[in-house]
Amino acid sequence: MNFKSFNLHPYIESGIRELGYTAPTPIQIQAIPSILQNRDVMGQAQTGTGKTAAFVLPILQRLMDGQRKHIRVLIMAPTRELAEQIHEAIGQLGRYTKLKSVTIYGGINQYTQASKLRKGVDIVVACPGRLIDLMDKGVIDLRHIEVLVLDEADRMFDMGFLPDIRNILKRLPVKRQTLLFSATMPNDVRDLAESILFNPVNIQIGDAVPVSTVSHAIYPVDQHLKTSLLMKILDCTDMASVLVFTRTKDRAARLAKQMKRSGFLVTSLQGDLPQNKRQEALNGFRNGKYQILVATDIAARGIDVSKISHVINYDMPDTVDAYTHRIGRTGRAERTGDAFTFVTRPDRAFVWTIENVLGEKLERRILANFDYTIPAPESSKRSSRLRRIGKRPCPKKDSKKTGEQHACHFSRSSRLSSGVKRGRKDLSHFPYPDSSSQMKSCRSRSMR
Ligand code: AMP
Repeated sequence: MNFKSFNLHPYIESGIRELGYTAPTPIQIQAIPSILQNRDVMGQAQTGTGKTAAFVLPILQRLMDGQRKHIRVLIMAPTRELAEQIHEAIGQLGRYTKLKSVTIYGGINQYTQASKLRKGVDIVVACPGRLIDLMDKGVIDLRHIEVLVLDEADRMFDMGFLPDIRNILKRLPVKRQTLLFSATMPNDVRDLAESILFNPVNIQIGDAVPVSTVSHAIYPVDQHLKTSLLMKILDCTDMASVLVFTRTKDRAARLAKQMKRSGFLVTSLQGDLPQNKRQEALNGFRNGKYQILVATDIAARGIDVSKISHVINYDMPDTVDAYTHRIGRTGRAERTGDAFTFVTRPDRAFVWTIENVLGEKLERRILANFDYTIPAPESSKRSSRLRRIGKRPCPKKDSKKTGEQHACHFSRSSRLSSGVKRGRKDLSHFPYPDSSSQMKSCRSRSMR
């Protein structure tokens, strides 16, 4: 099958050709004809399947007819990065159509956005919060909306946007086409879909299982050795561009700083960064200025950097779904990629869960020339013990200042364990022996 069979406008076909797409992906084959027929769609598709073009192409086709410079399409996205990506895809696929889109999200000057709106646009790609601000101020007129797209609906729920979405929905014309896309279909999303979609076409691509073009491996390692293992792997492996995931914003920033000091071309993306810094990080990663991007889940949501060769989970994700999303950043649209996950002892049970979902055992890898026997420094042992019993470390100084700080004390079990292994190498578990373990050794130095 090729794109000709959709009978798209020649200007749109030129945009497709220019991007080098030769054949539609499965979700495009299923979604485009239905959307062209004005049907509502509920699409379950993971990232990397080509879902953006699946809704952008028929939307552009619809907009080729009818009045210009009225907002006729509203696309809602959970994050600024995803909004920018959709906007970019519209710009690329629609470059010969002269149709205009604008992004609306917080963190940047709203007057610029308002002035673009005043000049007239056909498509608005928005995050919920700023859109509501502009609606309340009467800056944006959504009375002519013909198509509403909710992209990554499950993420919108995760991020607490449901009330905002309902608020926006109330103010849109009832007679419209609605397209809802989500990587997973939890009950919340299904309930929303049932209440806003009319007789939808259901499309399901993949089963929330990471794209098959990705090969997965896990690296058992103690927490305190993760950074040195990461740097060693980067030193040893040919990697074009690498996305590293950490669990917290603070860790993303610290890890990137440490790696930068060691000479890696690295930047970080986390929620505390102002918008211009985020964009700079993303652009730098896209254009190759940085080969490594260290990010948190929220920050990296929806990132489409088509040439990501490796995703490294420095910290294990919290859910299989999060694993799927992270891994979906590599191996996009028929390309191949590698996904490495660092696994500490407490993460092991979760590895089995992932293996169950994938239906295959993940390859265990042990780096041959890496010293796994270096003991943890006392400070990191102490804080990891505290983490295990759910307490923050006591502040060293001024610990008598507040009642809250006094509340920091050890449980009986932690006192017991703290006495046992102090200063000794406890290597009974790592790297844990496994028949599928592979010893990997250095091949090349390509990242610095
Ligand atoms: P998405 O799932 O929309 O994030 O798309 C993932 C990547 O696939 C993006 O880099 C798109 O440019 C690319 N892509 C989308 N459709 C096609 C296609 N038909 N052929 C090749 N690449 C595509």
